[in-house]
Amino acid sequence: MKIKLIITSILFSFIFFSCDHIKQHLAEAKKDTMQMEMPKTDSVKYTAAMVDNAKDATCGMPVAAGIEDTVHYNNKVIGFCSKECKDDFMKDAKKNFATIEWKK
Ligand SMILES: [Zn+2]
Repeated sequence: MKIKLIITSILFSFIFFSCDHIKQHLAEAKKDTMQMEMPKTDSVKYTAAMVDNAKDATCGMPVAAGIEDTVHYNNKVIGFCSKECKDDFMKDAKKNFATIEWKK
């Protein structure tokens, strides 16, 4: 009788463990697919319609050519062709903000 109880409890803990293991496995699989989908959404992160400037304030490239990064400044959304252009802009944001060519 005692042995039966032990076997039952071992069986139960095994089921519990495998359930937990499966759940963990599913969570990991989900995380994997999420990471795999990331670059896809990344490439269409920003569009010219989402920003207020007409041209990249640092290099002068039209935002319609593609936006890699944006910054919120003085209640405006400013788009840049690259992170480097944004970083350059932010080095002297106040001065550079005055030179931005806005959309008409
Ligand atoms: Zn640029």
